[in-house]
Amino acid sequence: MRTPAETAPNPTAAATGGVPFRVVVVGSGPSGCYTAQALRKGQPDIEIAVLDSLPTPFGLVRYGIAPDHQGAKAVSRQFERVFAQPGVEFVGNVSVGTDVGFASLAENFHAVVLATGLGADRRLDIDQDPDVPIVGAGDLIRLLNSDPDAGLRHRPDGPGSLGSEVVVLGTGNVAVDVVRLLAKSGPDLIGSDIDDDALRALAPAPVRTIHVLGRCPSHLAKWDTSMVRELAQVAGVRVSVDGTPLLDEPAASPRTTVDVRFERVPASIRRHDGRVRVTTHRAGDTGTVDHLDADSVVTALGFGPSAAQLARFGGLDAPNVFRVGGPRTGRLGNLAENRKLAADTARDVLAFLCGREQRHRAGLDGLREHLPASVVGFEEWRRIDDAEIRRARPDRCRTKFTTRAELLAAATGSGALSSIPSAATGPTATQEK
Ligand SMILES: Cc1cc2nc3c(=O)[nH]c(=O)nc-3n(C[C@H](O)[C@H](O)[C@H](O)COP(=O)(O)OP(=O)(O)OC[C@H]3O[C@@H](n4cnc5c(N)ncnc54)[C@H](O)[C@@H]3O)c2cc1C
Repeated sequence: MRTPAETAPNPTAAATGGVPFRVVVVGSGPSGCYTAQALRKGQPDIEIAVLDSLPTPFGLVRYGIAPDHQGAKAVSRQFERVFAQPGVEFVGNVSVGTDVGFASLAENFHAVVLATGLGADRRLDIDQDPDVPIVGAGDLIRLLNSDPDAGLRHRPDGPGSLGSEVVVLGTGNVAVDVVRLLAKSGPDLIGSDIDDDALRALAPAPVRTIHVLGRCPSHLAKWDTSMVRELAQVAGVRVSVDGTPLLDEPAASPRTTVDVRFERVPASIRRHDGRVRVTTHRAGDTGTVDHLDADSVVTALGFGPSAAQLARFGGLDAPNVFRVGGPRTGRLGNLAENRKLAADTARDVLAFLCGREQRHRAGLDGLREHLPASVVGFEEWRRIDDAEIRRARPDRCRTKFTTRAELLAAATGSGALSSIPSAATGPTATQEK
């Protein structure tokens, strides 16, 4: 990781009474990266440190956007150009709230931007047996994206099979991502970076039937029509909405049937004869009850702050603390929305910095003694990136490391890279203390 002293001098200093502006962004997902990009655009010499608790940058671009949507994931190349600039630092594997306290950030930087996203799948607040297999869509897709921290990965008995009949609750784009990934077969995943081991664990045999239930009427569904069209065009998949097939010529003998029903309000999820029974009633008509028996349930009901995020950042309020993305709006949003929010936030930050006299702040140098030994800088991230691309399995664009230990070994050019015959791993990194 470069030190601030190694970066270019800060001509902003002349315009600000000799004080270089130093901003820390917590979270290197799209909101954090777009904010850094917009701050630099507004004030080209501002110094920015972007901290992330993960050893890898880009948040849900890496661990959320579906592994078969590489076009959307390619936004990371744009973000890499932000970190390639002198004066913008990626500081990975540093969790704010545990590794470094918020007070240290406030002390060492002129402004703190919280871009920590919304880390938790929203839960279903209905009557449910405690041991029924319910999985959050965000967690499921994190697993398929090789997130080392995915909750499913750390279950005592592993992720476990979802079975051949699955109920998905929710009709947004994330629900469609889940259905598509579970319905696809091998050839459909060529060129993706899906975690094949995780997919095999979740779906050791084809998922035959996926019931998708939405509370709202179909015209209020949050999914994009293009997403549903893409799903309906997957070979061997038949999609029907409220009983009507989506394509005029549905797959003759489908491998997977997707049955979408709107205006079904979940009332309970219970164990029933060794399976899971989802009971719903019709919207506006609690008297009409339907039962669906399946092997597992996936909830795709949006996202909220995790308990840790609430505890660490919930009550923070000071003139130099800014929020962007989910912490600002309560919604995860998409890339375009978060880009706009980031531009607004950057404008607020610059107005704050320029609107009052600023005293000198040490920036990353002042933080150094608080940082853990295993910090991952941008050059170390590039090593991880290279190694994952080089170790890609056949038909995959990359094969990600699935544990923090592997990621850190790849970051230093040791350990995990030894299994790659032609790897030119570069010099061992000197990690920051
Ligand atoms: C399954 C799925 C598919 C999606 N597909 C698309 C798509 O195709 N197109 C699209 O436009 N959008 C898509 N989105 C939405 C998109 O991913 C989000 O809009 C975007 O990632 C939100 O960015 P963010 O930076 O606010 O949050 P995040 O991407 O979640 O980034 C937050 C970052 O903050 C870090 N962090 C959190 N707490 C701390 C802490 N205490 N200390 C340090 N770091 C911390 C996290 O590690 C993370 O890296 C998808 C989302 C999901 C879940």
